[in-house]
Parts: sequence; structure tokens; C-alpha cells
Amino acid sequence: MTKYIFVTGGVTSSLGKGIISASLAKLLQARGYSVTIQKFDPYINIDPGTLNPYEHGECYVTEDGAETDLDLGHYERFLNVPTTQANNITTGRIYQNVINKERQGEYLGKTVQVVPHITDEIKKNMRILGETGKYDIVITELGGTVGDIESLPFIEAVRQFKWEEGANNAIVIHLTLVPFLAAAGELKTKPTQHSVKALLEYGIQPDILVCRTEHHINQDIRKKIALFCNVNVNAVIESIDASSIYSVPLLMMKEQLDKTVLTKLKLAHKNEPDMESWKDFLGRLKNPTSEVTIGVVGKYVELPDAYKSITESFVHAGAKNECKVRVQYIHSEGVYPDNVKEKLGHLDGLLVAPGFGSRGIEGKIDAIKYVRENNVPFFGICLGMQCSVIEYGRNVLGLQNANTTEIDENTEHPVINMMEDQKNITNKGGTMRLGSYPCDLKKGTKAFAAYGKQHITERHRHRYEFNNAYLNQFEEAGMIASGINPDSNLVEIVELKNHPFFVGGQFHPELKSTVANPHPLFVKFVAAAMEFAKKKTK
Ligand code: GLN
Repeated sequence: MTKYIFVTGGVTSSLGKGIISASLAKLLQARGYSVTIQKFDPYINIDPGTLNPYEHGECYVTEDGAETDLDLGHYERFLNVPTTQANNITTGRIYQNVINKERQGEYLGKTVQVVPHITDEIKKNMRILGETGKYDIVITELGGTVGDIESLPFIEAVRQFKWEEGANNAIVIHLTLVPFLAAAGELKTKPTQHSVKALLEYGIQPDILVCRTEHHINQDIRKKIALFCNVNVNAVIESIDASSIYSVPLLMMKEQLDKTVLTKLKLAHKNEPDMESWKDFLGRLKNPTSEVTIGVVGKYVELPDAYKSITESFVHAGAKNECKVRVQYIHSEGVYPDNVKEKLGHLDGLLVAPGFGSRGIEGKIDAIKYVRENNVPFFGICLGMQCSVIEYGRNVLGLQNANTTEIDENTEHPVINMMEDQKNITNKGGTMRLGSYPCDLKKGTKAFAAYGKQHITERHRHRYEFNNAYLNQFEEAGMIASGINPDSNLVEIVELKNHPFFVGGQFHPELKSTVANPHPLFVKFVAAAMEFAKKKTK
């Protein structure tokens, strides 16, 4: 029988519910339990695919092609187990399901209401992963903060769920803030008390409190929180600020969060968590033997969450290479031919980020020209790859004004073109080429050397592709297609023969990099940057 853990948040947003959920899941997994995490988001979009990255950070894409919240990226990076559409549900999707059923007459004769119809639909979705029989434990993270108008139906659904499943089968972990007031020189428990009271008003007694704090919480404060919030003292868990999100599982282990959870769920403690490989990763992460600076050129750089998975992929690849990767975000709108050297001259490698639309694209192209001509390692992702094709077309093949039809529909040289099966699509949501597709690598290429095998799969999210009408011209001029989709013949990877490392992928490798499996292209890119840095100092 599957057990359920709900993670709610109080006091303020950004306390790190996603990381706490992923860390707990990691510890339970390391004890031998099969665990998955799902996120319920209270906004009305059907999924975050239609959100600007400034709104909600990166849109994370799963194997099955769901456009999801970026917390699913943390779940996968920590657990090394893929998630699916069922792992991310929004208010919009819940309402859409209910309204579709209403139209089909499923509630014929009844008034359709938030309670019970919306809450029933939420509970049904909370159970979907558990009912697959694949998981011992399902952790459900609720987006938003307790007290928000929009999260009310979810909170009510949790209350009912807990009542239906029984106290030992469903528990609630509430994440709160214990702020330090500098003027008073002390930690304050009142915000925690208030946010637990808010939960109690909705009929939920939290089982465990995870208290985010900048300073250690001593036993007296733990006792005080326990007394005023009706929990055991050992259910007051300190979550102190950490230098790396990857340290959090070990901090939670020290606080015995996993033990407390297992006791409450009446599950066997089994073995102590086997965190050896995790500790090994942390050891390499925290003791680098070299250092590189890699630039990420993009247009959403004001919000680092827009490139979350890319940033984390560098952490994994850096640890693998025992190299500290300093990632520098560079705004593509600020790069021009006459300042490109000044902007990029100090870098050991350049990644050009994914993106949509025309803003900042010429800066990306100028940046690519610079690193191509100066043998600086280059890695292009999705739009970044497309820009590298445009740059090569314009500046090496002499295809004047070569472009992607996303930017210039009437370009003489559409080297990047809208995919045939995208042309008649008018709906914006969930209609791109999404999710996992196979790719065959050509032997003797950098791509093949990185993966060490011929058949791979990678995740996609785009509408445009390399225009195969130009492939011969490009290959003759030195830019080769080293990865091809065997079913559709789409070019998935381009690379330059005469360059230390110049690789562009039409897919999103950053979505598959995990602590246990750093992505091979990122690993090789960082290695190339290390090589470049070494030569530079010589
Ligand atoms: N805008 C480009 C396309 O749709 C690239 C998308 C991306 O970078 N994810 O093809």
C-alpha cells in the first residue's frame, strides 16, 4: 500500500519546498524505498509551457513531453528517476478535467462545485501515481503558501485525503520560516505559530515542521515550537541555509527527518540511508582542483531560475571533472560586434541558451562568431544551436541574411525552418515538438565520443529545425550533422570538425543531467573549457 506525504509551505514563498521534498525523497530512496514526488500548482494555466520564464522560471520537460514546473527538475536531479505528466498538476488542469466531464454529462443533474467536485478531482490526481503500484511513497508538494486564496481547494483536498487514508498513511510536513531579528538578537517562532494556526483553521494538523533558518535552532526553541504547534519535539526539524542545495539531504539526515517520517507512517526503518555515492559527489563538488569561467548568453539572465537546469548541469559536470565552474550570465541584448571581445574575451567556454522570439538573437549570433573564430569551446542548446547554424550560414557559407523563419519568415536562406508538422498548428499550449526522441550519432564525432554509444534519446521543446535542403552545403564547409533522428531525419546535433569543441544540440541535454548521471555533453564541454584555460595560462 502506498503511503502519502504532503509538503505545504507557510509564512513566505521561496523557502525551498522543492529541495526539502527532493532531499527527503532521496533519503527514503537511499533506504531502499521507491519514491516519487509530484507538484500541485495553484495557478490557472494548464501547464507552465505558456508562461514567460520571467514569471515562473524555466519550463521543465519530461520524457513523455509534459511541460512542467522547474521543481520537477530537482526531483529528477536528486532521485535520478524520470517524472511524467502525472507529476505536475495545476488548478487549470483540474478545472479543465471537471469542466470536460460536466460537458460530457458525467455530473448530469448536479450543481458542479468546488467542494466536492474540484476537491474530488484533486484527490483523484493525488492518487494517480500511487495507484500505479510502482511507489511505496508518494510525496506531494503543494505550490504556494498556506492562506493564499488560490491554494484553498488543494488544502481542503489534503484534509479530506488525510482523513480518508488515516493518520499512518498520509502525513503533512509544513515548511515554515524561523527568522532571526538582528535588533532583538534572537530567532522568532511567532510566524511559524501563525502559519500552523492558519493550517489548523483549515482542519489540518501538520505532523512535522521543517523550519527554515539562518541560525541553529536550539532545544528550547524546538520545545517552544512543539508546544505551540502540537507536534513532537523530534518533529521540529531545522533546515539551516546551506552553501549548496546538494548538502540538504545530508542536513536532513542529521536532523533525522527520514526517520521521523518513517515512524509516523509506520514503515520499517530498513537500513540507514546509503548516501556514499552522494557524499562522493559532494566531496568532488567541494574540493575542485581547477576552475573555469563559462559564459551563458541568454535573454532571461535577470532571473537565474530561467536557466535552472543548465546551471545545475554545470554543477554536475564540474564535480565530475573536479573543476569549479563559474557560470557568468551575459545578456544577449548587450552583445554587439564591436564589444564582443570585451564581453567574452575572458571566458573559457560559451553556452548559448535556448529561447523564443527575436529579442537578443543577433547578440547570440555575434557571440557565436567570436568563439568560433577564436577556438573558444562552444555549446549551443536549442535556439543556441539554431543560432550557430545561422552564424555559419552567414559568415562561412556566405548565405546573406540567412535566418530562422521564426525571426524572418521571408528570408532568402531559411537555414532553420518551421517543422512540417508544426505548420498547421494554431494552439500555443503543449503543441511543440515535446519530450523524448531517439537520435543516432555518427562515429568519429565529438558527440559520439561524449556519449560513447550510437543510439541515444534526448528531450525536445521547439517548433523549428535545421533545414535539410542546406545540409550538404554545411557539411562540405565543415559543419556536420553528428546526430540525426532515425525516424524523421531531423538534424539533432551539429558540430565543427576544425574546432576544439563546437557542438550544438536541437534538444535540451540539461533536462537529463542528474547527480548520479552528469550529462556527457556538459562533462565534455567543461573538460574542453579546462583544456582551453590550461592553454591560455601557458
Ligand atoms: N524558438 C526555437 C524553436 O521553437 C527554439 C526553442 C528552444 O530554444 N527551446 O525552435
